[in-house]
Amino acid sequence: MQKQLISGIAFLAIGIATVNAQQKMKPEDTEYYTPVPNVVTPGKTCGEAPSDAIILFNGKDLSKWVETNDTTMQAAWDVHNGIVTVSKKSGNIQTKERFMDYQLHLEWKEPKNIAGTGQARGNSGLFLASTGKGDDGYELQILDSYNNSTYVNGQAGAVYKQYPPLVNANFPPGVWQSYDVIWTAPRFNEDGSLKSPAKVTAFFNGILVQNNVNLKGPTLYIGNPSYKPHGASPIKLQAHGDKSLPISFRNIWVRPLPDPNQ
Ligand code: MG
Repeated sequence: MQKQLISGIAFLAIGIATVNAQQKMKPEDTEYYTPVPNVVTPGKTCGEAPSDAIILFNGKDLSKWVETNDTTMQAAWDVHNGIVTVSKKSGNIQTKERFMDYQLHLEWKEPKNIAGTGQARGNSGLFLASTGKGDDGYELQILDSYNNSTYVNGQAGAVYKQYPPLVNANFPPGVWQSYDVIWTAPRFNEDGSLKSPAKVTAFFNGILVQNNVNLKGPTLYIGNPSYKPHGASPIKLQAHGDKSLPISFRNIWVRPLPDPNQ
């Protein structure tokens, strides 16, 4: 009983001391002035590149891109009228530059007369990190999912076979659509074990479809994902082998982000 009384008094004393300390603090004690955030000029419209973005595709050329399966080869997709259309025979393309964490904006459009069903209807993909040839990496799915049934973790806005989108935010084929993505690259310990998983937040046509999800590893067509260590990686676009018409892209930019742990 006496023990309980003593611990009760001690608890009360700590509480009073905390309140007193709060009352003695001034507003200035929790305000700081450096480092000052950089000034960045926003684009004129939402989606237009801000002043500090790296422009990955400006409507004129693919000088920032190479072929995934032979990175000595310049990307050879079809650039015309300010857009780039997938060349299915030349395969996936990826950036020359490698990235860790970033904010990315990309616009894509399905052909108005797209045909096919399921995964064979305007399939492409945004690989947030390309970890090797072909489809190695972490894919945010691109597909015509306006009125097209497939497995939900394979529809547009899905982290392929890991997380379905929170909602179906597709415009119909023939309309430009946008992805705005925040990518946090996975971190690995010196022994190759996973330190922290990759994370994705994604907006599809301005609507949140992935809310800071923890990836289970690179996205796989077959099997369960698991991590293999890697560092900064290219960003990759998919030339999917289905028979439907190729999709197009425009206005692709990226803003590398500081390491959240430094
Ligand atoms: Mg795909």
